This record gives sequence, C-alpha cells and structure tokens, in this order.
Amino acid sequence: MADKNAAIGTRVIHGNQSVDPTTGAVMPPISLSSTYAQRSPGEHLGYEYSRSHNPTRYALERMMASIEGSTLTEQDDASCGGFAYASGLAAMGSICDLLDAGDEVVCMDDLYGGSQRLLRRVRERSQGLRVNFVDLSSNDNLSAITPGTKMVWVETPTNPTMKLCDLSAIAEATRAVAPEALLVCDNTFATPILQRPLEHGFDIVMHSATKYLGGHSDAVAGIAVTGSKELADRLRFVQNAVGAVLGPFDSYMVLRGIKTLAIRMERHSRSAMQIARFLDSHPGVERVAYPGLESHPQYALAARQMDGGRGHFGGMITFWLKGGLEQARTFLESVRVFTLAESLGGVESLVEHPAIMTHASVPAEERAKLGIDDSLIRLSVGIEDEEDLLGDIRSALAASVG
Ligand SMILES: *Cc1c(COP(=O)(O)O)cnc(C)c1O
Repeated sequence: MADKNAAIGTRVIHGNQSVDPTTGAVMPPISLSSTYAQRSPGEHLGYEYSRSHNPTRYALERMMASIEGSTLTEQDDASCGGFAYASGLAAMGSICDLLDAGDEVVCMDDLYGGSQRLLRRVRERSQGLRVNFVDLSSNDNLSAITPGTKMVWVETPTNPTMKLCDLSAIAEATRAVAPEALLVCDNTFATPILQRPLEHGFDIVMHSATKYLGGHSDAVAGIAVTGSKELADRLRFVQNAVGAVLGPFDSYMVLRGIKTLAIRMERHSRSAMQIARFLDSHPGVERVAYPGLESHPQYALAARQMDGGRGHFGGMITFWLKGGLEQARTFLESVRVFTLAESLGGVESLVEHPAIMTHASVPAEERAKLGIDDSLIRLSVGIEDEEDLLGDIRSALAASVG
C-alpha cells in the first residue's frame, strides 16, 4: 500500500491497494461470487452479499478514493469513500438520491447531454427536483446559489464547449450562503491527474469511468468519491439500497485502466496541445476551445486549477469550422486515424458532432444558446503517434474547408 503522500503517478498504481492475503496476487482476483458463507448466522468475514460488498469493486473504489485525494481510511469507511456504479449516469442518479423530493439544485448550464436528460426528463418529474441551469463559468452568476440551494452540480471543463468553473470560488460562495449544500463536480474530462475537486472544498467527485479512467473503450462504469465520513455513510446506504453497483469484471477492467492513467493523460495532453495550436492557426477554422491555449478566455484559471504547472490540459478539443453542416460532414467523413464515434477518453482518437450525436437530446434553443451549432466538432485526442494525428486532421481540413 502506497503512502497517502505518494505522488499521484505512484498512487494510480498502488493507492489503497494491498496484495491478496491468501495468495500474494499483485492484482485482485475477479471475485464473481454473489454470496459468502457464514460460520454462524451474522458471523462472517465482512462479506455477505455482493451488491453490498465485493472485494474487486472495493479494490477499484479504494483506488479512486486515493487518487481523488480522499483521506478516509478503511476504518472510516470500508472503501475509503470511493463508490463504483454501473455507469456514470447511475453514479449521478445515486448522488441525486441523497436529496429529498422538491430540493433545489443549481447546475452548470453546459453539461453532458445525458446528465441534462437525467435531471430535466427524469428527476424533475420523479423527484420534483427544481433545477436551475446557470452559467457558473462566470463568478458573476454565483448569486444563483441561495440559502435554499441543496446541491450545486458542476462540470469543468464542460462538454462540449470547454468552459471552466472556478472550483474554489464556487465552494467559497456556496459555503457562505448554503453551508449544508452538497458540492458535486463531474471530473470526467480532467481526471484526478489534472484536477482534484475535493482539494478545492467540494464534497463529492463524480466520474464517467467509461472515459479516461477505464481508458480503453471497453467498459461502462461510474464513480463517486467523498472525503467526508458522514457523506460516505449516506452514499454507501444509497449504493446498497438502490443497487446501481458496478459488477466485478468491469471493476477489474477500470482498475486495470487506471494503472496507466498518469502516463496516458501526459500523452493525451501533449498531443492535444499540438493539435489545438495547429487548428488555431488554420484559416479554415473559425475558433478553437482548448484550455491550454492562451486564447481560451479562462486560460489563467485553467493554468491554476488544471495543470499544476506541468502544462497539461487534457485530450479534449472543440472547434468550429468556417462553414456549416456540409463542411462538418465532409470533415467527419474524411478522417482516417480518428474514428467517428460517441464517447471519449480512450487510447484511440475519436471525433464527433455534438449537435447530431451526443447532445441531440438537449433542446435546440438551449443548444443555440450554448453555441453548439452545426459547425462544431469535438475531438478526443488519443495516444497514437502525434504526426499521424496531425496529418489526419490536416488532410480532413483540406477536404472540407480547403
Ligand atoms: C459520458 C459522460 C457521462 C455519462 O457517463 P456514462 O458512463 O455514459 O453513463 C457523464 N458526464 C460526462 C462528462 C460524460 O462525458
């Protein structure tokens, strides 16, 4: 088990992990058993039923707690404040289950389409949540957080327009007016390698582990991490009561992926920076949104909040082509190394068209307000050879905008 103070590049490999006590296995076995034998009624080794306790899931959950910077121990909480769910949206749903019917939520306006759908089309109806979608990328709008606010939900950088939220400012503003409100950050895009919201005063970090954490486009999973024992107790109760748990095989897959998270993020970030610079200088490109470019309106915040001085800003780039749907379509049909597909964060480079694909469920007028138009293209830069990636973008641009 690595020291809590070990650097994150060490914690992604050893964080809260221990060798198997019976065999010395370095990686945990995939424990498929749904139930566990008891010596006498109620007398067991800490495992009763796999929805409630599973050793492979625990290994992933403890790892996530370590890399997101939760300081809880196994004495505080069986999985140190980390929780794994069947998908990112299952994680979000379980976090929303901490709220009561009719509670008021302040939410970043530019969220992943599926997160908006869960709030707007399910939880507003089934739980009566009153969700106020606000552009929290501007600290001027923090007045939307009131004494009645029970949860503040942010994503930073946002998907797809790459806006940032100032996590420390939001935490401070919320504590001042609504000290009990839950502060939640969807950290899917940045990953704990680039940004750790708990360290900025947030209560819960949420992930779609389907993306960078798993990293190989072969598992669907979600994560929540808290550094508070009281919240860990409540999350544990809901995880077991609602039952949206991650299975042992997928827990193993995500844990395996995390071992290379630090080196993957370095490579994603380096290649994305080069591609963003190239796009920024191309005459056929109207605008590029990448937090590592000095032209990003929140570059100073990104440098402070995301990269820790290493110049790493992640693998996601959004850009607007000169032209419209026809130019975008030609670009998307012309790429050869990038694959046209939804999702992000895998080793392979992906490209997608949010207006038609991932964000089609966002109402058209909302999309227009957010700038998600037909010329917008989103890249998830993978870890292939940088020159091959640049060459692919160069020739697809030549085919679409000349
Ligand atoms: C994909 C994604 C989700 C949803 O996660 P699933 O694993 O697909 O359920 C939530 N937030 C962000 C930022 C995402 O990219």
